[in-house]
Amino acid sequence: VRFHDLFLPIALMRAIQEVGYQYCSPIQAMTLPYSLDGHDCIGKAQTGTGKTAAFLITVITDLLEHKLEEQYAGEPRALILAPTRELALQIEEDARSLTKYSRLKVAAVVGGMDFDKQQKQLTEQRCDILVATPGRLIDFMNRKVVFLDQVEMLVIDEADRMLDMGFIPDIKTIVRATPRTEDRQTLLFSATFSPDILNLTERWTNDPVRVEV
Ligand code: AMP
Repeated sequence: VRFHDLFLPIALMRAIQEVGYQYCSPIQAMTLPYSLDGHDCIGKAQTGTGKTAAFLITVITDLLEHKLEEQYAGEPRALILAPTRELALQIEEDARSLTKYSRLKVAAVVGGMDFDKQQKQLTEQRCDILVATPGRLIDFMNRKVVFLDQVEMLVIDEADRMLDMGFIPDIKTIVRATPRTEDRQTLLFSATFSPDILNLTERWTNDPVRVEV
């Protein structure tokens, strides 16, 4: 499948051309037809398969196609959760490349980095796409710096590592602050699907399509 044949928004297509992607990777070819159609998806995929672009292309397309309400206050409309700072920053970088020709704003809140700077970015600059590690996001939620009630796209990346690292209680708190499963689209990726992960997936997604590479 070529990206060209997916009828993506022009601003996104231009960015995809610039990063040099032409053909969908297998996980992208299997996920995008469903995710772009609004379905929840759970994907079994390792790093290196192109899963990041699979969910970013879905998120960006959704945000560009979905018109804003007039009273929109600048709270994030897409939330991407990742277990580590390194992964979150990589996702942020990819999101910046892919939103280069649109007006969508990307922000990252991750642990171990300047708190005030991140707070300023959220309060002054606002953002459409927020990439976050769970602990730092909860800090900002508790301080009422960020609200998740406008989130229409939720991505949980590397769910199995989130579980291993003890982040599940945090993720539960975060997911509860977003709209109900019926009122948002959820994409979840994990390298493995243990019964624990499947259990959580069932709670966090609505009739998901399963994709495996
Ligand atoms: P990921 O699995 O998301 O960590 O992506 C692995 C690498 O593949 C990243 O360096 C991406 O830039 C690259 N990549 C993702 N999708 C494509 C594609 N369709 N064609 C070529 N490279 C890609």
